[in-house]
Amino acid sequence: MDQKDKEKQEQKKFLGIYFKCCNVYGRIYKNKAGNAYEGVCPGCGRPAVVSIGEHGTSSRFFVAE
Ligand SMILES: [Zn+2]
Repeated sequence: MDQKDKEKQEQKKFLGIYFKCCNVYGRIYKNKAGNAYEGVCPGCGRPAVVSIGEHGTSSRFFVAE
């Protein structure tokens, strides 16, 4: 397995998120540093960031207000 394959596997980690602004569900993905999930609303491009704490995220689903 080369480095690219490894990165691909790690990028599968994502979080389901609901964007209130556009009333749509989407996914945001773990950033390179691995300390937060980052993404944008598929409707309006509004950024969403969910920090990953020491104990990880307690919930597997989030709402972007
Ligand atoms: Zn939106």
